[in-house]
Amino acid sequence: MTHALPETLQTPLPAHLQGLMSRIDDLRDDLIALTQDLIRIPTLNPPGDCYRDICDYLDKRLGRHGFDTQLIRAHGAPGDSEKYPRWNIIARREGKNPGECVHFNSHTDVVEVGLGWTKDPFGGEIEDGKIYGRGACDMKGGLASSIIAAEAFIREFPDFNGAIEISGTADEESGGYGGVAYLADHGFFAPERVQHVIIPEPLHKDRICLGHRGGWWAEIETFGEIAHGCMPFLGDCAVRHMGAVIDKFETDLYPAMAARHTDMPVVPEGARSSTMNINSIHGGQPEQAPDFDGLPAHCVPDSCRIVIDRRYLAEENHAQVSGEVEALLKELETNRDNFRYEMRELNHVAPSMTDRSAPVVSTVDRSITEILGKAPEYVASPGTYDQKHIDRIGKLKNCIAYGPGILEMAHKPDEYIDIQDMIDSAKVMAHSLAQLLLPADRQ
Ligand SMILES: [Zn+2]
Repeated sequence: MTHALPETLQTPLPAHLQGLMSRIDDLRDDLIALTQDLIRIPTLNPPGDCYRDICDYLDKRLGRHGFDTQLIRAHGAPGDSEKYPRWNIIARREGKNPGECVHFNSHTDVVEVGLGWTKDPFGGEIEDGKIYGRGACDMKGGLASSIIAAEAFIREFPDFNGAIEISGTADEESGGYGGVAYLADHGFFAPERVQHVIIPEPLHKDRICLGHRGGWWAEIETFGEIAHGCMPFLGDCAVRHMGAVIDKFETDLYPAMAARHTDMPVVPEGARSSTMNINSIHGGQPEQAPDFDGLPAHCVPDSCRIVIDRRYLAEENHAQVSGEVEALLKELETNRDNFRYEMRELNHVAPSMTDRSAPVVSTVDRSITEILGKAPEYVASPGTYDQKHIDRIGKLKNCIAYGPGILEMAHKPDEYIDIQDMIDSAKVMAHSLAQLLLPADRQ
């Protein structure tokens, strides 16, 4: 089969790259079977099931194609136990000559199935050119595309320069601490070892994702004094104190956040401002079990807690974001009788933005333009992904997310990946490998 050039493509690819593209077209059935196999391993997180199974599968597959593999368990990471060990795989294939290393990083975990499916979530069914299953789009389709791209490239150009790495990592959906963070802490993502990183998250085949916003999560607790509910004046209601906190958010914080806009190309548009979700609120007596049909006792609540999820922009910083919430609480402490509070940080992730002039960005830009016949769209993600650890711990600034699939499909019922999108993305990835790992006269 010959590689069908998009009509808009002005200059045909040179013959040796045509050969690489035809090879990927010829691997269509292999790509489909690989994606189905990966979907059929139910790597649900939580709790973190079948990580060893998927690593063993990838070990066999990549070992057959000349990769040296290492299976690494994130001992002691959150969630790691004998029952649910956090296994990761890193596979490396050295070229014939020295050069740079291109690393494709995919997470192997998938989120819970949820309701509303009409297909088997772990069946890998095919219908109308799409493969269905939990993780099809986020991100086993992207993992399969990067494997096919690398294998096709290695077969076509066995004398390439540098090295190719492919990793399958745990726990991205729960923060990446048993996956990329652990590996970065142990030197696997480091500038001496890896020079270019592509994360095939489902951002779509014609988009380059440069990074993500930051996140700050905290719990705020207000305190009161318990008393009989018929004489609330003898106690102090912690829920009313929390009401004052939320009122402050409404009048001061939300308008201030909405007025801030970022230069980051975040999609969707609404996420180009600062945002904050109040995840939960609880005050007073613990909620009763659903099968308890008794009546509540009459008490003034002495504690009320909320959890907030504040997403912030590259133009803001951690101290400012936590500081402005703390300042509102301090103001209440001064102006409101008996107001007492505690604020506990639960987690923090700094924003990450790769420079548009970074080599991996211009390389994938050129590949999208030449393979798809259109300029890429640049985006940034509203939520965080493993780039945070590659950037902060690994000190690798030359990192993007690029892969097949529609972001809106992630975590939804009847999640799918389009087969042609995977083929097109694999071609873009292979074309980028050619640019980065072949001598200049053969790119
Ligand atoms: Zn993902």
